[in-house]
Amino acid sequence: MEKTLSIVKPDGVKKNIIGEVITRFEKSGLRIAALRMLRLSKEDAKNFYIVHKERPFYDSLTDFMSEGPIAVMVVEGDNAISRVREIMGATNPKDAAPGTIRADFASDIEHNIVHGSDSPVSASFEIPFFFSSLDIN
Ligand code: UDP
Ligand code: MG
Repeated sequence: MEKTLSIVKPDGVKKNIIGEVITRFEKSGLRIAALRMLRLSKEDAKNFYIVHKERPFYDSLTDFMSEGPIAVMVVEGDNAISRVREIMGATNPKDAAPGTIRADFASDIEHNIVHGSDSPVSASFEIPFFFSSLDIN
């Protein structure tokens, strides 16, 4: 069993598709092991996306991620990391495969609805960023 961190970003919460995202994970056989809503401060968003601090989109991305509430969850299952990323689709919705969350709902490369950890190392930073071990079922 592998665990990954997924986020319904502020654009996804505004579009009222938290349930749609969770349903896609559940329908694929993945399980939700932890779930909560919160709003990141600009500082929190900068810390969460610290790996991107040198990228040109860092300031804009962290503004976006702190502009409204998000839904964060731990998703669990065999190969959960790669399966969540497949269900999400490519970062840029223009490149995302048909039927993926980003192809269906994202408006552009920044406002792309959903986050998923990209590796076991990322997941082991991102899960405890939001959840204590006591919160994870
Ligand atoms: N992003 C952006 N411009 C880019 C690349 C990424 O605004 O050129 C944003 C987008 O919201 C993306 C996030 O930064 O989801 C993190 O980028 P990453 O390359 O890690 O993409 P992901 O793993 O989310 O597919
Ligand atoms: Mg990433």
